[in-house]
Amino acid sequence: MTGRNSRTGQAPTDSLSDRLAQQREATQPVADQSEVALVRRQYLESEQRFRTLLESLPKVAVQGYDRDRRVIYWNEASTRLYGYSAEEAQGNLLEDLIIPDAMRDGVIAAHRAWVRDGIEIAPEELELRHKSGELVPVFSHHVMLGEHTDSPLMFCVDVDLSDQKQAHRELEFATRYDSLTHLPNRQTFESELDSLLASGERRDTFLALVYLDIDHFVEINDALGYEQGDHLLIELTRRLREHQRMSDLIARVSSDEFVLAFPDLHRQADLWRLVDNVQLALRDPFVLAGHSRQVTACLGVALYPDNGLNARELIRNADVAKNRAKLDGRGALRFFEQHLHDELVRQHHLIAQLEQALDHGELSLHYQPQVSAVSGRIENLEALLRWLPAEGPPISPAEFIPLAERSGLIHRLGDWVVETACRQQRAWRDRGFTEQRIDINLSGRQLLRPGALERFAACLERHGLAPRDIGIELTENVLIEADTTVLDGLRQLYHRGVRIAIDDFGTGYSSLSYLKHFPVTALKIDRSFVHDAPAQPEDRAIMEAAIFIGHRLGLEVVAEGVENAEQLTLLREMRCDLIQGFYFYRPMPAEAIERLLAGLVPGHGHLSG
Ligand code: C2E
Ligand code: MG
Ligand code: MG
Repeated sequence: MTGRNSRTGQAPTDSLSDRLAQQREATQPVADQSEVALVRRQYLESEQRFRTLLESLPKVAVQGYDRDRRVIYWNEASTRLYGYSAEEAQGNLLEDLIIPDAMRDGVIAAHRAWVRDGIEIAPEELELRHKSGELVPVFSHHVMLGEHTDSPLMFCVDVDLSDQKQAHRELEFATRYDSLTHLPNRQTFESELDSLLASGERRDTFLALVYLDIDHFVEINDALGYEQGDHLLIELTRRLREHQRMSDLIARVSSDEFVLAFPDLHRQADLWRLVDNVQLALRDPFVLAGHSRQVTACLGVALYPDNGLNARELIRNADVAKNRAKLDGRGALRFFEQHLHDELVRQHHLIAQLEQALDHGELSLHYQPQVSAVSGRIENLEALLRWLPAEGPPISPAEFIPLAERSGLIHRLGDWVVETACRQQRAWRDRGFTEQRIDINLSGRQLLRPGALERFAACLERHGLAPRDIGIELTENVLIEADTTVLDGLRQLYHRGVRIAIDDFGTGYSSLSYLKHFPVTALKIDRSFVHDAPAQPEDRAIMEAAIFIGHRLGLEVVAEGVENAEQLTLLREMRCDLIQGFYFYRPMPAEAIERLLAGLVPGHGHLSG
């Protein structure tokens, strides 16, 4: 590339070489003519190379200025960077071209100080002015040639930083904001909220932090695709923003979770109004994949200063409240309560303890006999899990089973129960107790685990047990929610001869018609009906109907929780098949059961009389 470039034009480069040559001559001691000519030629050649170099650097803008800061050189990259062609720039003052007004005096002074006192201008990052008026970020180096002559030339070498700045901005955006909704992320929200809380006195006002979690978002994603899920999030963001005041904050903190902060509230009424506003954002259906769809979300609310003094505490407590709301079902709203939080912390510890309990042998199975209502003979044993921690009182399965379900620990626990029950049954069979069956409880989550029923069958086989040796109990809701894979698995067990009972019958699903669809062999009437039957005609009627329907469907009927003679009499009148309850036997350890089966301990005589 040479100076004869159509864009830079001829003039500036010629003028530059002339000036450089003049300057060179001016600083050169007088020598003979031929020597001068040689030096001049060499100089021109070197200058030519220099010029070519400058011209070939597309990203490096080089400008030369005379002692009055008039442009004497302007390369093509300068044109690209600042918008002026070389002709336009030529002869104009630096400060009129690319120096923003605010820098004008400083630049002039700095240039003078360099020319006069030799104080160099240090390289630095600047924002200079483009012809359009916009600012351009550059890294600018300055070189003074002929510093101690009459015609000192300042060259500015500017590197365009726009791309880096843009990349930096993008990076900063990506680390501070959510790319889908462009809302701040959790960290940004936390620091914004903390500075909001730190700023200003908020003595008479309070702040509400609302945690919003879309219900069943995963299903929307699965059913309609991620695109529709994204669309929902963007639209919800728009609606939430619509009702925001300037001072309110909002962030997206995970895939389907948002947090909103509402400062400067004075009265309860303010709080309700803004909670209404958040709920309003969900009132109208969303149009997803061409269909309108009602979307709900659970809300948890924490208040400053009562429920936390900083962003992190407030978010955590609003999250706790939201998780509590989730248990209430779709669209629920909960305010944070300290005891909720304490309860969660306790549950968390309990789960950790339970995990250890498994390894430390703190768990055992107790067995509660079910006796024939007619003969009083022990027919079956229900295996019930017992946890006696190394320290402290026993913990009820009614408390730890739901926790284990939620944490996923139920699978290990369930495997342990199946294995232990099978091993016990094997031992009893080997000792000649061949009659009674052991029934184990299976929870919903256990059944949903792939291969659960196969593993159950394999365990029976491993211990050389027949399908009729171990039965299972499931609750109604588990059956209702079972998918076809689970139902097919249950059907296979059923056809092999495994006894399957519906536990706590009457407390779950309210329709009886589903009974005929499921592969079950027995109903266990919930103890609440048994308990109230003697005094409450309604409970008696339900119990009677359940026994009647059970029998019509060919099912065995078991009554749970029988505690007195009155209940027993009723159940016998209604022709209930089996009785389980404290009136006969409490759940007891395997050794006690063994003594009972061996006849070493007399059975109860309630039925013989
Ligand atoms: P469930 O399966 O309905 O078990 C019957 C519960 O009633 C047992 O409580 C039993 O001790 C109690 N019970 C029996 N007779 C009477 C009575 O006459 N009066 C009263 N008031 N209660 C009686 P438990 O042992 O506390 O178990 C509670 C629940 O925990 C069980 O209810 C079952 O749902 C669950 N569970 C227990 N063991 C296991 C297990 O190994 N796996 C699973 N998934 N759940 C289990
Ligand atoms: Mg049970
Ligand atoms: Mg039950």
